[in-house]
Amino acid sequence: MVQGNVTIDPLSPALPVENPEIREILDLTTGEYLSVKKLIGSFRYDRLIAERVKVRSALNSSPIYKCATCPSAVYLVSTPEKRFFFRHRHEDGACPSQTRGALNQDDIRARKYHGLRESEPHKRIKRLIERSLLADPAFQTDSILQEKRWYVSDDRTQWRQPDVQALRGDRRIAFEAQLSTTFLDVVVGRRDDYSKGGAQLIWIMAGFDPAYRRLTTDDILFSNNSNVFVVDDETCRLSEAKREFHLRCFYREPYRDGDALKERWAEQITAFSRLTMEPEAQRTFLFDFEKAEKELRVAADAELRTAFFAFWTADRTRDSLQPWTSLRQKLTARGVPIPERSDGNSSFSTMVHGLLSAFKGEPVGWQFHKLVQVAHHIAEMYPQHVLAFGHALAVAEQQDKIDSQDSKGRWQRRSQKLRESLQQRDPRVMPDLEWLAALCFLFPEVGSRVTRFLEMVPEQHHVAHG
Ligand SMILES: [Zn+2]
Repeated sequence: MVQGNVTIDPLSPALPVENPEIREILDLTTGEYLSVKKLIGSFRYDRLIAERVKVRSALNSSPIYKCATCPSAVYLVSTPEKRFFFRHRHEDGACPSQTRGALNQDDIRARKYHGLRESEPHKRIKRLIERSLLADPAFQTDSILQEKRWYVSDDRTQWRQPDVQALRGDRRIAFEAQLSTTFLDVVVGRRDDYSKGGAQLIWIMAGFDPAYRRLTTDDILFSNNSNVFVVDDETCRLSEAKREFHLRCFYREPYRDGDALKERWAEQITAFSRLTMEPEAQRTFLFDFEKAEKELRVAADAELRTAFFAFWTADRTRDSLQPWTSLRQKLTARGVPIPERSDGNSSFSTMVHGLLSAFKGEPVGWQFHKLVQVAHHIAEMYPQHVLAFGHALAVAEQQDKIDSQDSKGRWQRRSQKLRESLQQRDPRVMPDLEWLAALCFLFPEVGSRVTRFLEMVPEQHHVAHG
């Protein structure tokens, strides 16, 4: 049953529908109103899919978003073309935004799904899973059951009927076959129920083609650390031959191509015992995509930081525009603006020189002789950087050095006053927001402290919505 399908590159930005009915929503976590198109567009496709599962899962207990114009909570849905919009949980006509048309995809999928559960392909994959498990002595033979009720809690009214269930040691595992029209409510509902009941849910597919993925596959894939599992004739034979449950795993593998982060699909047949299970997140994976991606990013960021400081502290009198432009491009790609020219903005230059001085314990980029002179210069001319400078001294443990150079106690008196001004949120000493992203990137420890300070100020935290 091949339907029209649009398969999206996981690293590409998510796309909202052209004219969403709900244009604005309230983020209940931050208390901010958000433009739906901007919010959706700010996510990478794979991350929005993971978010969509999270939003759906929280919808009935503690919703993450609500409609801006009515009291209804909202959740993320997709068109068949994989463009996203928000839909009301309850729609009673009270809201000017109408998000449930005559064609309700969810309802249609729900009906189709229940029909498919009795189908031959579904029975076939259940048998393959059962046979694979029976071959493996690590799974207790009498615990391997097909379509048997399993009680989520002592309350006998709450039960699930997994396609196949089994005990491995004292861990209960529920295997659910993913059918071609499994829909988000099922994915999320199962996940939450098994999680409540202390069991691990693993979705099994009959086949997987990275280049042809349905949305329901993406829901499972991207909420499972980008790993999916297939049980087929070959893996089943292998399980029986080796007397150990084997599965075919498909996963995304990130790699670096110069400064760009790319990825490829990988496929591997693996023994079940090699999988990592995270019961709380209900994730089961062979390859830790998230960790690998983060490590690549951290390494690339560290390299870029090193290149920036190498440039900044080198003799920049000759031929400095080209390397700067290249640094600027890479930083801009990370959402970190820096000036067009390296000497183009004195506030930026002072911030970088000031913090380098604090870390080194002596003036960097000035004719001064002592660190305390740098401190006075910043306080006098660039008070928007005193907070960052102060935190840098603390992080680098250079406070004593300044004190030893402050024989008349002038800096001590001055910094006391600055502290009071900061406590009162005096606009003159408030951090320079224009270069905050650069501060956070170049000096992460200092940046996070300054950000924390800013987050304690409601006036600074509220961004205008246009
Ligand atoms: Zn509404």
